[in-house]
Amino acid sequence: MREILDVCVKMDRFAERLYAALAEQCPEPGLATTFSRLAADEAQHTGWWEGLLEAWEHGLLPDLVNDTTGLAERLTDVHGELSRIDLGLIGELDVERMLALAARVEFFMIDPVFSELIELTEPAQSEHRHAAYQAHIQRLVNEIAARYPDDSLAALLASSLSRSWRDNRRLSVYATHDALTGLYNRRALYTHLPQWTAWSARYGHPLAVLLIDIDRFKDINHTHGHAIGDLALASIAQAMRHVTRASDLVVRYGGDEFAVIAPETGVSECVDLANRIVEAIRQVSVSTDDGSAIPLTVSIGSAVAHDVAGSPPYRVESLLAAADQALYSAKSAGRDRAADPLTVERV
Ligand code: GH3
Ligand code: MG
Repeated sequence: MREILDVCVKMDRFAERLYAALAEQCPEPGLATTFSRLAADEAQHTGWWEGLLEAWEHGLLPDLVNDTTGLAERLTDVHGELSRIDLGLIGELDVERMLALAARVEFFMIDPVFSELIELTEPAQSEHRHAAYQAHIQRLVNEIAARYPDDSLAALLASSLSRSWRDNRRLSVYATHDALTGLYNRRALYTHLPQWTAWSARYGHPLAVLLIDIDRFKDINHTHGHAIGDLALASIAQAMRHVTRASDLVVRYGGDEFAVIAPETGVSECVDLANRIVEAIRQVSVSTDDGSAIPLTVSIGSAVAHDVAGSPPYRVESLLAAADQALYSAKSAGRDRAADPLTVERV
């Protein structure tokens, strides 16, 4: 992870130096201003990666990437390509070549790996980060579009730059989110959970996993139809997002079952969180065509991992199995409730 963050810092530092050199050498004042703005954006990106690197050094960031070696290799390749650009020769370039060089750099930097890293390291901030990056790319695209006719090759390349960025972004959202509820999907859960259990064990911070299942959902589908069932799923998802923290991961685990991964959450906080969710869902209802409201309730089972720093991590399967066992108790005890959290046994 350290190596990955290190290469990201180096790449953005290089991009910052490149844009600063372009700003200095560019003969057109308007474009020079845009280049210095792009350099300032890159300085911000560098600061962001440096912050993550520092958080990592202080043990505040989980080891988030599964395939560390593969990712580090991909990033090192991109960095290698970038560093072959000779900044000493920038003064010899005309405006067209300057723009082409900037576009080349941005084509490297829209590698899906960056979207992936933003999603993984700061899910709560990802919308904001992605919007800022999109604005960054758009500044360059606008400069190119302003200089060349719409049907020129340069305009086509510029629009394909912003299109590739948007497509990469959309694909990374599709891969990690559920279409009906907009929550993270099961695949995202299995990417994040092992990282959080490793983090919890390494630093001795508690971690809670909650499984939330809608009560008698088959009856709702059966009585009111699937469209109302879908509406109920989406409304419950929205209510859960409201009562959880931005740093909690809220997941559609499957069918009518949801999961919440809550870092820094011990047994008593987990009980509070589960009760908050039960109460919030009692307030959710969906309306039928005749205007009557269908009441909704959920049952919750949870598991909490907490150990001294430096322990080997709990197995993800043990946590999920314990939460599932507690969920079964909540169902057997009459539904519309949260069972007491189970603390997991190390396996
Ligand atoms: P329990 O209280 O024991 O959980 O009873 P239940 O009826 O909710 O039982 P169960 O959790 O097994 O039922 C899940 C139902 O969820 C079955 C399936 O038809 C429905 N379902 C799964 N995915 C969707 C979906 O995307 N949309 C709709 N409308 N229904 C779904
Ligand atoms: Mg159910």
